[in-house]
Order: sequence, then C-alpha cells, then structure tokens
Amino acid sequence: MKTCAFITLGCKVNQYETQAIRESLAAKGFVEANPEQAADLYVINTCTVTLISDEKSRQHIKKVRRKNPRATVVVTGCYAEADAKTIKKMDGVDFVITKAEEAHLAEIVSRDTVHRIPTQDSIYNLKISHFAGHTKAFLKIEDGCDMYCSYCIIPYVRGGIKSRRPQDILEEAKRLIQSGYKEIILTGIHLGAYGRDTQGNHRLPDVIHMLSNLSGLERLRLSSIEVNEITNDLIDLVADTKNVCPHFHVPLQSGDDYILERMNRKYTESHYVEVLDNIRSKIDVPSFTTDVMVGFPGEKDVHFDNTVELCKKVGFSRMHIFSFSVREGTPAAKMPDHCQPQIIKQRKAMLEAVANDIAFAYKKQFLNKVVAVLVEAERDHKTNQLCGYTERYIKVLFEGPEIAKNSIVSVRIEEVNPSFAMGTLQ
Ligand code: SF4
Repeated sequence: MKTCAFITLGCKVNQYETQAIRESLAAKGFVEANPEQAADLYVINTCTVTLISDEKSRQHIKKVRRKNPRATVVVTGCYAEADAKTIKKMDGVDFVITKAEEAHLAEIVSRDTVHRIPTQDSIYNLKISHFAGHTKAFLKIEDGCDMYCSYCIIPYVRGGIKSRRPQDILEEAKRLIQSGYKEIILTGIHLGAYGRDTQGNHRLPDVIHMLSNLSGLERLRLSSIEVNEITNDLIDLVADTKNVCPHFHVPLQSGDDYILERMNRKYTESHYVEVLDNIRSKIDVPSFTTDVMVGFPGEKDVHFDNTVELCKKVGFSRMHIFSFSVREGTPAAKMPDHCQPQIIKQRKAMLEAVANDIAFAYKKQFLNKVVAVLVEAERDHKTNQLCGYTERYIKVLFEGPEIAKNSIVSVRIEEVNPSFAMGTLQ
C-alpha cells in the first residue's frame, strides 16, 4: 500500500486541483499519509504569482526530499508551468507535470505510459467529489485569463479562457452535495470570464441559476469577480435567489485612475463605485471584499490617498492588501518609478489600519441581529468555541455543541471587532 502527501501553494484553483489529484491517486490505491509520516509519494502543487512563491515552491521540494530520500517527488502547478527547466535540474525531482497533464498525474506516476499524451486541457477532465479539510467546497468552473494586468504573470502560465461544460459542473455539484457540503464556492482563475470561449453559449448567471436549484445546496458563493463582469442580470439573480450569498469579492487593486491605467485594469474608480452602488440599491447590506495593491510603479502619495478614500467610500467588509513585487516577464517589471520598499511598507500599514476601521464599521451593522452561520468542522484554536461564516462572509464565534458542526445555525450577534463577531446560539 503506497502512501502519498500533498503540499499546495497559492489560490483556490490550486487547492481544487490538488483535491482532484488526491482523488485520482486514491483511485489508484494510494493512501494519504498523515503529516508526521514520511510518504512514498509527494505531490507539490506550486504557485508562481510572485518571486516569493517560486522560492517557497523550491523550499518545499528540498524539504520533502530531506524528509524521505527514497520518496517519489512530483512537482506540478504554475511554477512548474513557468519554469520546468529549473525544477528538472533540482535534486530529487522525479516528475514535473504540466497543467495539461494534471488529469493524468496518477497514471504518469504509476508509469501507465498509455496516458502520457493529454488529449484535452485538464479543466475538462479534473473532477472532485470531496474537499478534504474544508467545510465549504470549491468548485472550479473556469481556467485561464486574457486580461494581462501589467503586474500579473498568470495569463502567461495558465493561458486563455477555458470554461467547463455546464453538465460537468452540475454533476460535480451533485457529488459535493451528496458528500454533505452545504456551501459551494464557484471558483476560477478569472471566474467572471466564464463562457467567453463558448461564443456566448454558456454564461455565469446560467450556471448560478442551474446550481441554485439543486436540493440540498444551502449556499452558493462566488469566489471573485471583476467589476466589469458584474451585469444587471447577475445582480438581480443574486438579489432574487435565497441561497446565493450577497457577498461580492471585487478586486480593486487601486482607487486611482492613473494607476489603474498603468496596471492595465479596464475600469475607472467612478465606474467601480457605480457598480457597487447599483448592487447596494438592489441587495440588503451586501458584503464587499477586495484585493488592493500598494506601491505600484509610479504611485505617488496623491494616488495612494485616492485609494484610501475609495476604500472608505465603499466600506469593504474585508480587504486583502498586497505589496507590489517585481515579477520578471510582466510589463510592470520594466516600468520606471518603482517605489521605495520603506514607502510600500508604510502604505501597506496605513491601508491595513483603514481596512480594520471599515471592517469594524461593517460588522457593527449586525449587532443584536440574528444571523445564519455555517459551522466549520474545526473549533476556533484560541477559544475552542465553534466558529463559522455568515452568508456575508463574517466570521462568528459562539459556544455550542459538536453536533452543530457542518450545519447552518442561528446566532445572535452580541459583540464585534474588526476581525470577527461573537454571539449566542439561538
Ligand atoms: S485578472 Fe489580472 S490579476 Fe487576475 S489573473 Fe487575470 S491578469 Fe492576473
């Protein structure tokens, strides 16, 4: 009986792909080793979004080789796609698997050479029925991106838009519901571009509508969507469909039009605000979360101030704040006017303080309100209380029995802080 172990870096899509690989290896008789155990086979699903991700990927390769010198080491993921040559030269790497080959990884490492040449992109063949270690399940419906934001390497490693067939999506959702998942999170490299490669045959709102009618699916969430892809019919669908979460993760990156243009982001700050105000006019207390990058080349104090002002105006419930980092191979890497590391650090700290204040203000709206919480399988490590998320993605801690895990319960919110809320089970 062979054992295997997985190391996954990067985004939700990578986590989904690792799960698909996990299930295909299990079908080949592999058993997952527990973390302390040295496994016979290691699969490292790498990320290349920044230089640091490349470095971390290499560190994990060296670490597993030290942990079990006789193990088979398989490297896949975006860094393997971006720089297979470097990885192949590293000591102890047995297989470098491309994105297209991922659906055949189990056969390749089992040396079933018949499956060596992939016939289709793996997006059409990877599938899951569980999501190990998670209470909510990610469902990948799209791969690739054609936006070419000037700081981003992803389109160069994941290629253009590839949309999964609605039938495959439906069957996968049914498998996940069958496995007991109450919440499904639709994900992709560029989710909002779903269907763009199908001449309009398939559209994201149609997939959402199709899945929202599945019995047993209590919540459907969108992982992230670009502001230009938020259409009126999508907003109406979310407003009118009880089990679709009123939570929109809409990457902003910058609140200044000059910087947005240098980023090759295809919207203006006023358009961004207009779309979110349109959502606010149709949905009760929608939750907006976002990604913002500080320190982009050419960013002066006035540009940064515009970003701060816009974030305050929107009132995000949660912000992911990233420092610009040079990514060789992207247009931004060659741009003049790079910001001083000290400046970037200061701006990140300032924006994090703003993010805390507005997240706190957003959560205060739910004080003394009863909210629906999907209870996580793991208790909160610090307090040992039950914890879970509302449909507006607010983390809630409360006292409660084990039986409440993986179910949706009602909790009255009695206290909030910038990071989470506390309450009493009703
Ligand atoms: S939308 Fe922009 S940031 Fe996102 S993956 Fe595509 S190119 Fe990268």
